[in-house]
Amino acid sequence: MEQRRSVYMDHAATTPVRPEVVEVMLPYFSEWFGNPSSLYALAREAKEAVEEARGRVAAAIGASPEEVYFTSGGTEADNWAVKGVAAASRKKGDHIITSAIEHHAVLHPCRALEKQGYRVTYLPVDEFGRVEPGDVEDAITDETILVSVMAANNEIGSIQPVAEIGRIAHDHNVPFHTDAVQAIGAFSVGVDAMGADLLALSAHKFGGPKGTGALYVRRGTRIGTFMDGGAQERGRRAGTENVPGIVGLGRAINLAVAEMPRNAARVAAMRDRLIRGILETIPDTRLNGHPIERLPNNVNVAFRYVEGESILLSLDALGIAASTGSACTSASLEPSHVLTACGLPPEHAHGSLRLTLGPGNTDADVDYVLAALPGIIARLREMSPLRGGA
Ligand SMILES: *Cc1c(COP(=O)(O)O)cnc(C)c1O
Repeated sequence: MEQRRSVYMDHAATTPVRPEVVEVMLPYFSEWFGNPSSLYALAREAKEAVEEARGRVAAAIGASPEEVYFTSGGTEADNWAVKGVAAASRKKGDHIITSAIEHHAVLHPCRALEKQGYRVTYLPVDEFGRVEPGDVEDAITDETILVSVMAANNEIGSIQPVAEIGRIAHDHNVPFHTDAVQAIGAFSVGVDAMGADLLALSAHKFGGPKGTGALYVRRGTRIGTFMDGGAQERGRRAGTENVPGIVGLGRAINLAVAEMPRNAARVAAMRDRLIRGILETIPDTRLNGHPIERLPNNVNVAFRYVEGESILLSLDALGIAASTGSACTSASLEPSHVLTACGLPPEHAHGSLRLTLGPGNTDADVDYVLAALPGIIARLREMSPLRGGA
């Protein structure tokens, strides 16, 4: 094996903040520290920076600036969309449609609403992790107040037919929310093309800072306030703005969208080489997620007879950062709800590995991982009690 490298392949969990983004954020911690709500030049500077960032986010997703609300990230944006629409539509109905493979930032608010008496349909997915749009149509009733289906899945990378789902929701006058956290910078995201009335995004998934994101709310969509207090974000999300974070988000989304065609193609070529290399050299292995309709940076493979956590430890010892799926469930021993929904038997779901690439990865990184994995898997299988009669 060649010399030890440091290889980061967990970009679905978070990404490094780009130097260009850090650079534009820094002055808003120091010389331009003003509160955007105050009435002097220093504050106007901050206010203008927030509004410029709002314009950039709007331009990136084909929205108007007044339809963009800054949040503390993807989780808050998803919570607001689901709970905010539910609260504002209680008189109209109590039924929500989502998918079984949503991020917990959507699933857990839905569970919380169920405890309050709302009814939730969790649509199944096929073996590739895709929702069938016809199932959305069949699930809609007169009481349905929201359809929420993610644009692309964070664990297995499957891209959902959101445009069709959005059209169906609109035909029935039901608002459509999409968690587009993994989609920004990966493929073209437009709120009109997707038929989205609400859309969540998060800066740290595309080269921006953690703790800042946005919720798009189409004009006229009924939604409750998220945070009560001051008049920030047109009174719907009170609290002094995270000015440096918002400025960083604006710059990051601008760069991510501008560089998307080139980055996506380059990253997809590395993805395909990783997938092919793993499937060809390691037996008893299968690809999770859709073979074509998948995020350009996502590799998710199941290795029979091994534990995903053991693979991670072995990779970590070689300087490779990867994941078993969702960072949010890595502390639990439950098999991933996404892989389970795809019908993966537990012995496969437990041995799954997610490698998510970024523009900073190189062909040498791919070679390093491909050189390391066969030995790791062979050694773990030798020791595996799961191996049974094999
Ligand atoms: C990361 C992620 C979130 C949560 O975003 P945060 O900004 O980390 O709260 C929500 N949905 C998806 C699909 C994600 O990948």
